[in-house]
Amino acid sequence: MSPRPRVNRADLRALRSLPMTPLALLVLALAPQEPAVAPSVLWRDVRATGTSSIDLVFLPDGFRAEERDAFERSVRTAVERLETLEASFVRSARERWNLHVGFVPSREACPSRAGALARDTAFRTHLEPDEEGGLFASDDAAIEGAARALAPGRDAVVVIVRSAGRVGFATGDLPREGARVRLPEGFEDAILHELGHSLFALGDEYVGRRRPLPTVENAVVPFYPNLTLDRSGARFATLGLTSSPLEEGALDFRTGVFRSAAPCVMRDLEATRFCPPCAAVIAAGLPEAPPPPPEPPRLVAPRGEGEPWAVELTSAPREAHVLRRLAVLFRLDAATDDATLRTRFAAAEARVSRKTRYMESPWLGDGSLADEAVFSMEPQITRRELGVLAPGQYVLALAQANLLETSSLVLVRFEVAPSAAPR
Ligand SMILES: [Zn+2]
Repeated sequence: MSPRPRVNRADLRALRSLPMTPLALLVLALAPQEPAVAPSVLWRDVRATGTSSIDLVFLPDGFRAEERDAFERSVRTAVERLETLEASFVRSARERWNLHVGFVPSREACPSRAGALARDTAFRTHLEPDEEGGLFASDDAAIEGAARALAPGRDAVVVIVRSAGRVGFATGDLPREGARVRLPEGFEDAILHELGHSLFALGDEYVGRRRPLPTVENAVVPFYPNLTLDRSGARFATLGLTSSPLEEGALDFRTGVFRSAAPCVMRDLEATRFCPPCAAVIAAGLPEAPPPPPEPPRLVAPRGEGEPWAVELTSAPREAHVLRRLAVLFRLDAATDDATLRTRFAAAEARVSRKTRYMESPWLGDGSLADEAVFSMEPQITRRELGVLAPGQYVLALAQANLLETSSLVLVRFEVAPSAAPR
């Protein structure tokens, strides 16, 4: 790999957490681009064409040229799991799945210690410092380039990671975060669970920590269609489930978030099925088009001084496959056109989506910036308080999303006059 200068990851993170101002866009555009990594094709198994096919790409990181067989063995093991595990969504519809396996050699193995610098490997996979989550990070643009060279319409990428020492976990980024699985060699049993994250945005249903979900993390829960903040289970009615007993605890937190009480691969790798909410999301499949925009919301003025503003929303029809909604309330200091608001909304959504990779990330907060308030909502929510608003000009931007895409925005502009509240 070439020793070209690269943007420090912490700098990139700071950039991404900013709204995309022209300056930030310029800095990103000037950041050095990695040369495309061209993988050699090891094998393909193409059984389906058209929109109902699902394409998985397998790539290595940390395998030297002479270790290609070890990579191939790991891929074969992972594929065997997908073809035989009782709960597998691949096994149950094998004819719809296409596999593409490519190889890119590395000069050395990936580091296995959190915070260690990336080595001379194909995609520079390493573990972030523990205080930044301790998770896998890679040169995601290079992975994307290699995956695109193998399968232009890929749905998920599985990077098999060979490390200098043992790494005790795998990760699966959600579809909106790139649908990348990082699977340490020897962790093939986890592939179905990780693809649950990367193809269907399913959240972890296990509980390790004894603490409640921090309130600041509530914004990420709507991104996971199998989890809910509402113990009544109303969210799962939007998936067509009429009665689905719930239990408290998910995302590794003991309380404050709910999941189905049924056994599930997202809770236990050895489970023989997915729970009803996960199964409903998997059965609905990957969407082929963005969802429709929401109905314009109704703004509700406060009843008296010191009372909150609110917004009332219309439920989306089930066939629209709406899994969540996002509203951003902007307070405007100057006239702001719709295009600028769309850019700022997209940046806000990207911040909240990024939180799914970095739970408890102080640098991301709840996704809101100064003069912006983010409201991340499960699809059954029909009323949301916006808070007590100071006099000024505002615009509420609202969109709804399916697994892969976000609808166009509905913008509601309004003014809070100094005399608006009756005395
Ligand atoms: Zn589940």
